[in-house]
Amino acid sequence: MLVEGQCHCGAIRFKADVNPKRVGICHCSDCQTFSGGPFRTSVMVPAEKFRLLEGSPRKYEKTAESGTTRALHFCDQCGTHVWGAAPGDDAPAYSVRVGTLKQRLELPPVAQVWSRSRLPWIDQLSDLHTIETQ
Ligand SMILES: [Zn+2]
Ligand SMILES: [Zn+2]
Repeated sequence: MLVEGQCHCGAIRFKADVNPKRVGICHCSDCQTFSGGPFRTSVMVPAEKFRLLEGSPRKYEKTAESGTTRALHFCDQCGTHVWGAAPGDDAPAYSVRVGTLKQRLELPPVAQVWSRSRLPWIDQLSDLHTIETQ
């Protein structure tokens, strides 16, 4: 499935050919911190199916609990997190943040990891009083 992505300000634009079966949620505490939300949703894209069209994201390298280093890419103008990858210029794959994709509505998650730190109130969202806009 061909998708188009960009950060909020538009300085970074990219496109990719994604497999909708590779969409997952991560509940790890790092993803909660970096996203500012309860979890992060990403789709794994092989490097050959990803193309940066515009911009040059800034990188922040973090060390995971496993000891693996990940380079987290974000826009240095608007702060949007766009993808994570192995450090270096020849990363084999990109973990693209689904919220940056124009086609995000068509990419529901198929799996979730790090349930150990999953916030329990996620299960009660459908019970909350709901307002269509602000
Ligand atoms: Zn931006
Ligand atoms: Zn995570």
